[in-house]
Amino acid sequence: MRTRRDFLVQSGLSTAALLLARYNGLAQESLPAAEGPASSQHPPAGQPVLAPASEGQTPAPQAPAPASTNPAVQPNPDLIQQLRAAAAAETIKTTKLIDTIFLLQGVGGNIVCQIGPDGKLLVDSGIDTGTRHLLNALGKLDMHPLKLLVNTHWHFDHTSGNAALHLQGAMVVAQTNTRIRLSSPQYMQVYDVHFTAASDAALPQDTFPDTETLWVNNDQVDLVYTPDAHTDSDIFVHFVKGNVIHTGDLWFNGMYPLIDLSSGGTINGMIRGVDQVLALADDHTQIVPGHGAEGDKDDLQAYREMLVTVADRVEKLKAQGNTVQQAITAKPTADLDATWGKGSIQPNTFVALVYDSL
Ligand SMILES: [Zn+2]
Repeated sequence: MRTRRDFLVQSGLSTAALLLARYNGLAQESLPAAEGPASSQHPPAGQPVLAPASEGQTPAPQAPAPASTNPAVQPNPDLIQQLRAAAAAETIKTTKLIDTIFLLQGVGGNIVCQIGPDGKLLVDSGIDTGTRHLLNALGKLDMHPLKLLVNTHWHFDHTSGNAALHLQGAMVVAQTNTRIRLSSPQYMQVYDVHFTAASDAALPQDTFPDTETLWVNNDQVDLVYTPDAHTDSDIFVHFVKGNVIHTGDLWFNGMYPLIDLSSGGTINGMIRGVDQVLALADDHTQIVPGHGAEGDKDDLQAYREMLVTVADRVEKLKAQGNTVQQAITAKPTADLDATWGKGSIQPNTFVALVYDSL
């Protein structure tokens, strides 16, 4: 039987499409482990973040830079173009969570759509090259138009579809810093990529500093800010009656997460944010991560324990006077890597990100 990987390889999009599949929790068992050390000499499989977009942010021209010696950097400039191409070719996988809430995967970060008489509410807009696939998938859910788009944070793989969806009639809602970051040039250290400001059509029209509640489609939808976490612009989205939470990139299910230090992210902020989600979840809550398969409270609790374990170990190494390179050499995640080290962020890179944010 042909696996999804076979199909992707034969489609000529092997590397990038496999990456997208990994991030979207598809065919995980058939995916190879990421290769190589976290050194910038051999950049491992990357994450679908910050691809350039005609309507969104675009990478700023850059002179070739010498290879970074910073272990928290794993540059791969070609990856962005590969991911845009893959999103253009990818199909959408739709999963019904409850009768009125669906998970859509395939074109960037995980997308959630709530349907009902008030019109569709979408959480995140994916990579813009996949927007036509997204619109096709939305059209199959019900006949009501898209009215609201919530961004969980500013990263490209969650906001690149904003402009096209806004032009379709959606009002874009996000935390204040999402608009600020989309409005101005950005630098993402972990991939060593610079971005220009997004177009006006891509910017959120409604912003809030802390928490906002939307009352739509017979549910209470809480948008809750989690400061200094994956970035400084993260919210999670809680459908209270539906008992569904989209965590944004607070949660990479089954993987070491990206902590975007250049956007204000910190390991301790991520842990605090995860704790906020756990405090709201019960045994029946369906929790959607930014990347990976949907899960439940136990899955998120296991991820939380991993974050705390790594943070504690790295903090001790740092307190003992070890440099970041010495901390990496000590292999503080050795017993965890088989479980958590197969995603886009390599163990060494994760240790460096944690070290630098403590
Ligand atoms: Zn992100």
